[in-house]
Amino acid sequence: MYARFSEVQKALSSGVSVLEIVESYLKRIEDHQHLNAFLEVFEDSARKQAEEIDLKLAAGKAGKLAGMVIAIKDNICYRQHHVSAASHILENFESLYTATALQRLIDEDAVIIGRTNCDEFAMGSSNENSAFGPVKNPLDETCVPGGSSGGSAAAVAAQLCTVALGSDTGGSIRQPASFTGTYGFKPSYGRISRYGLIAYASSFDQIGPFANSLEDAALVSEIMAGKDPMDSTSSSKDKGENWGVSADQGKRKIAVIRETLETDGLDEEIKTSLLEHIQLLKDLGHEVEEVSFPYLEYLVPTYYVLTTAEASSNLSRFDGVHYGHRSQNAQGVEETYKASRSEGFGMEVKRRIMTGTFVLSHGYYDAYFNKGQQVRRLLKNKTDEILDQYDFVLTPTTPGTAFAINSVKDPIQMYLQDIFTVHANLTGHPAISLPFGKDAKGMPFGIQVMGRNFAEKELFDFAKSFCDQKTHEPI
Ligand code: GLN
Repeated sequence: MYARFSEVQKALSSGVSVLEIVESYLKRIEDHQHLNAFLEVFEDSARKQAEEIDLKLAAGKAGKLAGMVIAIKDNICYRQHHVSAASHILENFESLYTATALQRLIDEDAVIIGRTNCDEFAMGSSNENSAFGPVKNPLDETCVPGGSSGGSAAAVAAQLCTVALGSDTGGSIRQPASFTGTYGFKPSYGRISRYGLIAYASSFDQIGPFANSLEDAALVSEIMAGKDPMDSTSSSKDKGENWGVSADQGKRKIAVIRETLETDGLDEEIKTSLLEHIQLLKDLGHEVEEVSFPYLEYLVPTYYVLTTAEASSNLSRFDGVHYGHRSQNAQGVEETYKASRSEGFGMEVKRRIMTGTFVLSHGYYDAYFNKGQQVRRLLKNKTDEILDQYDFVLTPTTPGTAFAINSVKDPIQMYLQDIFTVHANLTGHPAISLPFGKDAKGMPFGIQVMGRNFAEKELFDFAKSFCDQKTHEPI
C-alpha cells in the first residue's frame, strides 16, 4: 500500500520494481471496486509503461515521476484510451490525442492506471450526476465523495493510486478533497494547459491534482504547469521551481473573509477549527486579519450564469454526428441532433444547457450574460485589492462535510456547496484545500488558501510551512 510518492520511492530504492508497485495498486483497485471510483482500469497500458520504466531505472535514465501511479478524471484525453466525461453521449469514444498536462507527466515516467468516475461533463458537487452511478466516499460509504471529480478523490483517499488528476471549474477538485481528507489544488487560470480537457466552461476550467501529501500535489502541478502552444490561454509567466519543497520562513499577512464565517449553514465544527487555525497562524508570528468581501452572495449566481452560458456553447458539438452516441430512432439531420442529445445527456447537463441558452438569448443577453461579466470583473478587482494588501486569503473549503448519497435533492442546495470555492474560478486565482480537520463523526474537511495570481510557488511554500505544524495521516 503506497499512499505517497515518498513511500513508492522508498520501495523502489529497496529493490521493488515499478511493475510490482503497479500490480499492488491494481489489486487494491480490484478490492475496492464497490466504491465505483474507476470507470476503466488501463491494466495493459499501465503494465507496459511499468516495464519500460523499470528498464529506464536500471539504465539510470528514468524521469522525475518514475514509480508514481496516476489516475485521470474521465474528462482528460489519453490517446488510444476511452474518455466519456461520464456521459452516455460519449460512451465508447476514444481519444485521438493526449492532453498536454497528462503528456508532461507521462514524459516524466508516471504510470497512468485508469480513468475515474465523475459528474457528467464535470457538472455537479456529489458525483451523483454520473451516467455510470455514484461514487462512495471511502471514509463513510453511505456518503458522497464530493464532485465533480469524486472518483479521483475517492481513489486517492483509498490509496488506489498515488495521485489523481481532476478538473476544477467551480471547486471540483477542492470540494471533493475536503470531503475525503486529501490535498486538492486548482492552479491560476492559464497556469496549466487545458488542451485535451473536455471543456465545460472554458474561462473557468483548470486541471489539477489530488494527493495524500502536499509535496506530491506540488510536484505534479509544477510538472504540468507552463505555456503550451496548443492552448492560447495558457500563460508563459515564470513559474519558479521547487514548489512546496522548502517551507516559507517569512511572516505573512493573511486575510480571512468575514462573510464566510457568517455564512448561513456553515458547520459549527468547521468554523471552530478555522478559528483555531487562525490562532495557530498568529502563534507562528503571521498577521491574520478579518476583511470584508461584500459580494459573497453574488459568487454562486454569477458562476451559474456564466458557466452555463459557456457550457451551452461548448456542448453544442455533441450532436450525434461528430462524436459518440447517435440515436437509432431518428431520421434526417435535425431529428438526429434532437434525439441524440435527448438520449445522450443526463438531466443536470440538460438543465445547464437550457439555462445557458436562455441567458445568451436575444433579449436576455444584456440582463444576464453581460451583467454576469460585469460582476465577474467587480469580483476580480475586489479580490486583487485584498491580495495587494495581504499575501493569502483563508476560508473554509466547504460549508459542511460529506453528505449522504441521495440526500440533497434541490439543485440550488447543491449549487450552494460551492459558495467558497467558485470565488477562485471567477477571479482566476490559485487555491488549495488542505485536509486540516475532522468533525465529531470523523468526517474530514479542508481549509482553503487562495494566493495571488501565478504565485503558485509562494502558495505551496506557505502551505508547506503551515502543514509542517500538523501531522496528517492518510486514512
Ligand atoms: N460543483 C460545481 C458545478 O456543479 C463545480 C464543478 C466543477 O468544478 N467542475 O458546476
